[in-house]
Amino acid sequence: MNPLAAGRFRPASPCGRPVNWAATGRLGGGSSEPFDSLNLSTTVGDDRATVLKNQQRVSSLVGASELHVLDAKHGSQVGVVAEAGIAEGCDGVVTASPGLALLALAADCVPIVFADPAQGVIAAAHCGWRGLSAGIVEATITAMRAQGARAIQAITGPAICAACYPVRSDCVDQLRDGLPRSQFESVVTKLSDQWSVDVRAGVHLQLAELEVAVSSINRCTYEDQTLFSYRRDGRTGRQGMIIAQ
Ligand SMILES: [Zn+2]
Repeated sequence: MNPLAAGRFRPASPCGRPVNWAATGRLGGGSSEPFDSLNLSTTVGDDRATVLKNQQRVSSLVGASELHVLDAKHGSQVGVVAEAGIAEGCDGVVTASPGLALLALAADCVPIVFADPAQGVIAAAHCGWRGLSAGIVEATITAMRAQGARAIQAITGPAICAACYPVRSDCVDQLRDGLPRSQFESVVTKLSDQWSVDVRAGVHLQLAELEVAVSSINRCTYEDQTLFSYRRDGRTGRQGMIIAQ
């Protein structure tokens, strides 16, 4: 199975080891329609045994056998974990345990992986427009720093782009209330009476303000048929970003 993208976070100092990450799309798994085929979520109605096999395939991409899967509640709760499981109620999860992979799931929202390879602290998070104003990005970085992380790098995975993401005015009102004005103006745009939201731009702005170096797999889930998109398909699977040290 080939990942959508894969790479390594490298330590800036001589101590520490490179940290593997990978991003997945729809292709290369065993799930049937409408979850075909590399669905990684057990909570969307897919066959559980098939999803667990898909998760195993994805874990092997980063050389891990133990996996902690992130739940997604569109909040700002972050879990610190040391063994395999599901991060119930969390949109961010942090570990300092070698060999334990962290998996963030999404289908339009922004999946993010983070690492400080020199300090041996990694994280994964899920951020949609609610997460932007709830502060999941900052909460994840704070939890990483509490575990000893200092020079943090991050990558954002495939997500819906602003042009494909028109939103209602109540979403805009919540973002106006929840975000600093400078962020709001970069995240929300209005074209011919239609509001739209660029969640990735918001994540990158927030990371820059937290002095985290960030790059991006800049693909739109809605436009690309090889990616899962909830906006496009409704009942569908979830792709992910996975990281392990
Ligand atoms: Zn798009």
